[in-house]
Amino acid sequence: MSTVEEKLGTLAFKNDHQSHISIPNPKICLTQCKDKPCTKVCPAKVYDWDESQKKIVVGYENCIECGAARMICPFQNIRWEMPRGGFGVSYKFG
Ligand code: SF4
Repeated sequence: MSTVEEKLGTLAFKNDHQSHISIPNPKICLTQCKDKPCTKVCPAKVYDWDESQKKIVVGYENCIECGAARMICPFQNIRWEMPRGGFGVSYKFG
């Protein structure tokens, strides 16, 4: 049985130079969101708390477009759009 990391390694990405994910109000992350669930639920580890910058760093290049982070954010503080045409993750089936 494959691990999540092994399965993620089978995906292909074509990265855009601009992020399709943003955090509209970083102050909410700092002052109101104690548990920071986006850093735990995302299987691709897109969201990481940077203690020195006191903000969430978004590694949008690794996004597998599952939508989990948007659902788990208790403050609806993740703005997520589909990557522009031709960019993002590609899945292989079969
Ligand atoms: S879950 Fe939402 S509010 Fe909390 S740290 Fe992540 S983006 Fe910020």
